[in-house]
Amino acid sequence: MEYLRKIIKKCILKTKYSEISTYLSEFEKTDWFDKEQIEEYQVKKLRELLTFASKHVPYYRRVFQERGLQLNDFQTVSDIRKLPLLTKEILCNEKESMFADVELEGIKNNTTSGSSGTPVVFRKQKLCRDIESALMRRYKENGGIDDNDFGIVIWGTHSLSKKDVLKGFFKGWLKNQIVFNSYDLSDANLERLIDCLKCKNVIYLRGYTSAVFYVASVINQRGLHFNIPFVSVTAEQLYDFQRMEITRAFGNNLYDQYGCGECGSLAFECHAHEGLHHAFEHSILEILDENDNDSMHGKVVLTNLDNYAMPLIRYENGDVVTLADHECSCGRHSVLIDHIDGRTYDVFEGENGKRVHAGFLDDMLLGLDLLNTYGITQIRIVQKKPKEFTCQYVSKYEIKEIDKTKLEKEYKKALGDSIRLLFERYELLKSAERGKRHFIVPLQIYEKNKAVYD
Ligand SMILES: [Zn+2]
Repeated sequence: MEYLRKIIKKCILKTKYSEISTYLSEFEKTDWFDKEQIEEYQVKKLRELLTFASKHVPYYRRVFQERGLQLNDFQTVSDIRKLPLLTKEILCNEKESMFADVELEGIKNNTTSGSSGTPVVFRKQKLCRDIESALMRRYKENGGIDDNDFGIVIWGTHSLSKKDVLKGFFKGWLKNQIVFNSYDLSDANLERLIDCLKCKNVIYLRGYTSAVFYVASVINQRGLHFNIPFVSVTAEQLYDFQRMEITRAFGNNLYDQYGCGECGSLAFECHAHEGLHHAFEHSILEILDENDNDSMHGKVVLTNLDNYAMPLIRYENGDVVTLADHECSCGRHSVLIDHIDGRTYDVFEGENGKRVHAGFLDDMLLGLDLLNTYGITQIRIVQKKPKEFTCQYVSKYEIKEIDKTKLEKEYKKALGDSIRLLFERYELLKSAERGKRHFIVPLQIYEKNKAVYD
């Protein structure tokens, strides 16, 4: 059966795989480039992209004309600053003039969810998707995973028609993985997942951070442990309290991966676990402060070097990150991200302009040791009114009044004396888009999506 699977996989994915494999061999070498080689590599790709965009993309044709720019104006990566920042608002207004006016292979459109504002149509070509796949394979390879190893994936999938379910099943079989739906973390589904961990030799586990955290905390409560060689989380911020719980359940092989729909794979944690390496082959990464100057901490600005169908140059994706102040001990020279702070709107505002970021609330949870004491498996803080926060949680035991008061006191200290903190205990927390469960839900997000949080 295993042999048959490999043969079918080879036949079906023959052409696709050969291209991805070519990129993979290239990236195995570029992974060890020094700073100078990285600059040279990025400048070459940037100039190719700009040559194309200034000719074939109406928006950039206009920007180049208005600013009187020529290709020769771009000799270093930092020359990219001669181009304006690209916001979601610009994408909304410019629409089709962001698209290339020539045919490119394998174009697919994708609309992002409106959780951060108006939905936007993104267009990607096959080249870009292949390069993202190759980077994912390098990431797994670096973690010691072979492409044929068996794994579990916890992902947000709508179960649609029977045809789609069958297609999904076949794809899973081909890739030698079982996909669990993060929309449905019901008891039955969870038992199936735990059975799978017990019976099969699971080499990797991949999924949304909150979903993997949830499974890990249930496993810890039952006193179980599964040593999994490669556990990879993505799509949401990874908090320290989650990292602790996940490594307790699955061993010290947790890898964080950072990406976004518009640009795909952006950064990957390596075996040294000192931060996330920026995949410089695929994008240019700028971290800017509130005055748009280079900074160690600030908003993420990206240039996707491989998508000519809709070039995103200096695009603000809405995230905030902090860079590491040292190089990784693994020997790679790519920019190292210390941690992802979250989305720009992952901030609670209290009275008199007091503000706290999600990381602060993470520290507080760890400090009071609430997770262990009450067997909490899911938790989030929702701001339902300007001065009212609700801690929604799923746990073995109800949080005692004394700890509720302690937590409220900390919130008052950080956000103001008139702040109230309420508690709601649930059987299971409903998820937002694609099965994601965010740890902090500020007022503006709550108001857009009350059905999930009420
Ligand atoms: Zn490293």
